[in-house]
Amino acid sequence: MGSQPPDRSDLYRDHVSKHDEVRAGAKFGAWIDGETHTTDDTVAVYDPVIDEQMLTVPDCTATEVDAAVTAAWDAFDRTWESTVPRDRSSLLFEWADTLEDHLEELTLLECLDCGKPISQAQGEIEGAIDTLEYYASVCRAQRGSEAPAATDLHLYMKHEPYGVVGQIVPWNYPLWAAAWKLGPALAAGNACVLKPSSETPLSTIRAAQLSADIFPDGVLNVITGSGSTAGQSLAEHDDVRKVSFTGSTDVGSGVMQAAADRVAPVTLELGGKSPFIVFPDADLDKVVDAVADGIFYSTGEICDALSRALVHESIVDEFTERFVEKAESYVLGDPLDEATTMGPLTSEDQFRTVTDYIETGREEATLLCGGGRPDDPALADGWYVEPTVFGDVSNDMTIAQEEIFGPVQTINTFADYDEAISLANDTKYGLAAGIGTERTSRVHQTADDLDAGLVYVNEYGPILPEAPYGGFKQSGFGKDLGLEALDHYRRTKSVYVNLDDPSL
Ligand code: NDP
Repeated sequence: MGSQPPDRSDLYRDHVSKHDEVRAGAKFGAWIDGETHTTDDTVAVYDPVIDEQMLTVPDCTATEVDAAVTAAWDAFDRTWESTVPRDRSSLLFEWADTLEDHLEELTLLECLDCGKPISQAQGEIEGAIDTLEYYASVCRAQRGSEAPAATDLHLYMKHEPYGVVGQIVPWNYPLWAAAWKLGPALAAGNACVLKPSSETPLSTIRAAQLSADIFPDGVLNVITGSGSTAGQSLAEHDDVRKVSFTGSTDVGSGVMQAAADRVAPVTLELGGKSPFIVFPDADLDKVVDAVADGIFYSTGEICDALSRALVHESIVDEFTERFVEKAESYVLGDPLDEATTMGPLTSEDQFRTVTDYIETGREEATLLCGGGRPDDPALADGWYVEPTVFGDVSNDMTIAQEEIFGPVQTINTFADYDEAISLANDTKYGLAAGIGTERTSRVHQTADDLDAGLVYVNEYGPILPEAPYGGFKQSGFGKDLGLEALDHYRRTKSVYVNLDDPSL
């Protein structure tokens, strides 16, 4: 924590008073069996704008994870298993409505906890609510099927929930990521134990508390604490029948190994190093903005960040000039201020990671803008990094291959279509990709040739619950969102009913 220079006192005082408001508004603990649960050991939750501790949450261990899993099975066996989709749909709608009533409170929590500009924080809370409403809607469309395989047989297929599922989400879009997993799991009829990141647990804890008196106790549980203890215990728990994880590729691989010991299925949504190909016919008026949104949204802390601009050599000079101008136009400031368009990184660890990569970039390539902390003394204690752009990048460089997870763009050139595709796919990841072009036929060809699970054309985003979200290669497998996510939380059972001769 830094000292308090006089010229940042307004920002500092404002945040500290918001922390008081947060502490007065709710008691933040693990949410197990419909109650707030505390532990002697705790984890501190920081505000990354002023590097001050806001509050602490329980540092759960295998004991609390076990209590949550037991509560979830009790709830499943007692009531939840016998609900029908119509029941679950109306409860999901009720929860979404309740969250909507608390939109301002949840937005403030997300903003303070992550350092996200308030408009982005609100957009993500609204995205979470929209996701829950989507699964409340499609919940009632769930049906089985029947196969006319033989005349003396009624052969039908039905879907069943797994029972209790474990879900682990990251710190970069906390409640939205939680909704991506809770919505389909609850709609499919599972009871859930979810672990938010210890960096940013507040909005998820509060949303779980707001589900009290809506879901039966034990249907939705939230475990706080560190990944290496609480997260690992959840991934390893014998009674967790399915695990869904979003985070880094290394940890995701460990989660998969833990689940493999008991042959539990996993869904993994992991990292990325996504390209944006700018073809010579691109409309730079919109594509420069799209590439900037693709890397600077959420201070670059987003798994589908389009962090590699691949630009045709005939337009690279004009693109670079306009892109640097755009990067320099971002307003770094207090995320609570509507004028701010970029907040700090979410934690000191992430700040160290990103600034180390920037140092590597200075050695490997040409720094075109940014690269440091902003001059504004009011921001001196926050984990701010300027929007940073590197030119003269080649694909074998560290900054072109490794996920930086910060506001750092690289610009590389290509000469022809084959080279563009080859550079775009030359990464161990395959989460997302962008295309800038005015030719429809080129859009379809390029989308086919890209080895990525999401393709954005002439824009970045939006992410809508109707479309499955997830990557290829080391970006993971299985999908969040869409009907596919609902399928991931259901098992299919085939029932063969022999039909006797109906003659009397
Ligand atoms: P992690 O993969 O460590 O964290 C993601 C989630 O997993 C968090 O809830 C974390 O808990 C939990 N976790 C950590 N260790 C374990 C474990 N052994 N078993 C089970 N769960 C665990 O990501 P980091 O926070 O360390 O970020 C590192 C890098 O990962 C980033 O720089 C970025 O490159 C990438 N990343 C990608 C994300 C994506 O959206 N695809 C999201 C986040 C990170 P806790 O935070 O409490 O330790």
